[in-house]
Amino acid sequence: MSRSTIDFGIDLGTTNSTIAVLAGTEVQVFRNNEGFETTPSAVWYDKGGRLFVGRRAKERLEDDGDNTAAEFKLQMGTTTEYRFARDTRTMRPEQLSAEVLKSLKADVTQRTGEEVRAAVITVPAAFELPQCEATKKAAELAGLTVSPLLQEPVAAALAHGFQSESEKVFWLAYDLGGGTFDAAVIQVRDGTIRVVNHGGDNHLGGKLIDWEIVDSILVPAAVRDNQLTDFRRGNPKWRAAFAKLKQAAEQAKIRLSRDPSAEILMDFLCQDDRGQPARLELELKRGELEALAEPFIVRSINICRKVLSEKRLAPGDIERVLLVGGPTLMTYLRDRLADPAQGLGIPLDFGQDPLTVVARGAAIFAGTQRLEAEAPVAGATPSPYAISLDYKPVGADTEPLVGGKVSAAGGQILAGYTVEFVNEAARPPWRSGKVGLSPEGTFVTALWAEKGRPNAYRVELCDSSGSARPCAPATFTYTVGLAITDPPLTLSLGIALADGTMEAFFPKGTPLPARRRSIRRTTVEVRKGQTGSLIAIPVVEGENRNRVDRNQLVGTLEISADHIRRDLPPGSEIEVTIEVDASRLVRTRAYIPLLDEEFEKVIKLEKAGADP
Ligand code: ADP
Ligand code: MG
Repeated sequence: MSRSTIDFGIDLGTTNSTIAVLAGTEVQVFRNNEGFETTPSAVWYDKGGRLFVGRRAKERLEDDGDNTAAEFKLQMGTTTEYRFARDTRTMRPEQLSAEVLKSLKADVTQRTGEEVRAAVITVPAAFELPQCEATKKAAELAGLTVSPLLQEPVAAALAHGFQSESEKVFWLAYDLGGGTFDAAVIQVRDGTIRVVNHGGDNHLGGKLIDWEIVDSILVPAAVRDNQLTDFRRGNPKWRAAFAKLKQAAEQAKIRLSRDPSAEILMDFLCQDDRGQPARLELELKRGELEALAEPFIVRSINICRKVLSEKRLAPGDIERVLLVGGPTLMTYLRDRLADPAQGLGIPLDFGQDPLTVVARGAAIFAGTQRLEAEAPVAGATPSPYAISLDYKPVGADTEPLVGGKVSAAGGQILAGYTVEFVNEAARPPWRSGKVGLSPEGTFVTALWAEKGRPNAYRVELCDSSGSARPCAPATFTYTVGLAITDPPLTLSLGIALADGTMEAFFPKGTPLPARRRSIRRTTVEVRKGQTGSLIAIPVVEGENRNRVDRNQLVGTLEISADHIRRDLPPGSEIEVTIEVDASRLVRTRAYIPLLDEEFEKVIKLEKAGADP
């Protein structure tokens, strides 16, 4: 199938990942081979050295941890390497993420036969350049040639239909995942939807609740009913038992989102001290779970309050809270959040499934992203009539113009031919009427579009006798709404100066792509050919203007003495240009007039591995 827009959206999550597509005006979430809409973001090597992604990998996490990798999203953009006991290879976070992406792609191919070559991929609002870069790399490794990134809260807002025309509207995305929590304030301004503030905690999420259930309920019950010595999580002897307990806890927790109580029954937990099967049987009540979850909910609420107050926003300024992430399916959490005194007191929106909302929003965005037509595949029968369309896939106009040119395979004259555009889903269906082509095949006409949803148009080409002719593309979509630009810079970006301050080329929130030039002077002398002597231009990210060392170094452009043709005295002029493209790649260039030479270095955007 040839597509004129990207259409596929992927939520590449820390715990679970999902792929969705915009089909006409509807978003469809794909189920994986096992019938689930979400695939655990985990990778496991089995005994035969085969690599598995998904549920089977997740299930081996606790008892075969040496051959399993999970939560690698948290390491994206670092130099961390994952090792597997059963395989000599080491894998970087982006390679592991690529395996997850490949698995999602394969699920689509299995269901529809289509190979996904382009997809919008979501990233947390907190992702900085190296992490975005690693995500792009993962996409590339998975064979996605086009992969614009979209911030997760923006995707959630799109899925919730954030189309406000008012300047004043803010939404709060509350995203509690498996092991991470993110809160983001979203606003529409100047027709652009953006994250105006965000915060979070990478050690807060559903997994922590599961372990609380294990530690404070299951373990005491197991020890009471069986003879188990030194039965604790860190003891390698009980590793398999704890893996089972963790799974049972998660399943019970999920059941309790719907039922008032959940049975936990395990006929064989492990062998006890005497070699007898240890059993576990108990009933977990919703109230017990709520008590365990309470401290985590409180922590998340405090983060939300902080994110709001940093922007001088009160709960009353926020129109609604969007619930994202599996744990937000807990009724207690919802009630607790909505509570005016103890929670946020902001109306909640749970009209969208929190487990797939991000992928669906990504697909909606993907439907607005044009795809350059691919060269026809050799051997495929080309459609005899090719239409090159010229239109904006998204805009504020409800009667947008569309122009284009039809070309016939044999170069035949197209006088008397017509095109017509049909918006079938409109009530009543809307037709443009037949628009005549010029002898060269060109046309221009206005469309009619409904607000609040993507409008799909069928293209009908007719020859001079009025008979329909096949053409490609045969459909395209247009959405009335916000022009969603690429996410702006989440942190200020600039260079470190010799006096320890930062020159911010782009303040936080700058829309991308962006480019700026600044003229500076060197502070050191660099002698031609003198090894070790160099001019360094450190590129940094962060908000500390006065103490540049408190910011994150993203890379350094170095002009070494071996590469200059003559000596440079201190105080030489140097023109620094930084360009950040829409996918957040940074290119830094330095032009030195005295040498009439330009130096460019592709910055390697990598964070040093976090110190344990
Ligand atoms: P991530 O964004 O980290 O990839 P998800 O949004 O997929 O994570 O959330 C995964 C978490 O949601 C897991 O801890 C899982 O146990 C929990 N979860 C899934 N469904 C439910 C449910 N119905 N009730 C409560 N928790 C749930
Ligand atoms: Mg998520």
